[in-house]
Amino acid sequence: MSEANQRLMEQGSKLQAMNAKLTETDRLKSEFLAVMSHELRTPLTAIIAFAEILLAEGETLSSLQQEYLQDIFESGHQLLSQINDILNMSKIEAGLVQINYNQIDIQEVLNHLMHSISPLLSKKGLMLSIEIADIPPIVADREKVTHIFRNLISNAIKFTPDGGKINISATLVNDQEKLSEVVVKIQDTGIGINKEDQKHIFDKFRQVDSAESREYPGSGLGLALARNLVEMHGGRIWVESEADRGSTFTFVLPVIAKGC
Ligand code: ADP
Repeated sequence: MSEANQRLMEQGSKLQAMNAKLTETDRLKSEFLAVMSHELRTPLTAIIAFAEILLAEGETLSSLQQEYLQDIFESGHQLLSQINDILNMSKIEAGLVQINYNQIDIQEVLNHLMHSISPLLSKKGLMLSIEIADIPPIVADREKVTHIFRNLISNAIKFTPDGGKINISATLVNDQEKLSEVVVKIQDTGIGINKEDQKHIFDKFRQVDSAESREYPGSGLGLALARNLVEMHGGRIWVESEADRGSTFTFVLPVIAKGC
């Protein structure tokens, strides 16, 4: 073998070793983030629960105290949902995610979510309409489907100025050729997204870089995670939007998820 070939082989195995080390470092980083986010969730959940207990005391508190508690409750929820996004994304990247299939009722998932979402809606004076067709229970992971809904609805609330409208609909599509699917649409009258930005918003950490979008806090993980979770169920997700006219996010889930 020539000297040049020998050198090429040595460089090749060095690159292979470096690549393996980088993959391992990346896995350890994701594992660290998963553990950390879990540790952060525990005290935060307690803060939210105690704020809720105190809020339930109602009349014994002054209106200023109630207002402060409401702020603790809402900010706590916001922080918890961002930590949940980091936790879930790092778990997915560390290969630690499992899907727990259950029979779930879309209407029931939404009812449950309304508890944390209603205060945000009324604070901005947003009108919400929900239209759920007659849909049988679907076989999917309840926690993950809730997470998809939460991320899309919180975005709709976040990016819709005061007084706007949000519509959530779910319909059943029966196709002879394929398995039945549930089509969910979350439509808002918010700031919208231009065509160029629509190509990137489902990527990790990507946020629209405009003066309007920058006004709103966020980690840029919500949609990437929603896409991951939808695809894990064998579904798909997309956006249709026009700047200043609002957005419609649609996701489709098979009634019986892939791999069941
Ligand atoms: P973030 O934490 O920033 O909300 P996401 O991944 O959920 O991260 O969303 C990525 C970006 O897509 C947002 O920063 C925003 O620019 C844009 N976006 C998402 N949903 C909407 C929406 N309903 N209306 C307008 N822009 C949106």
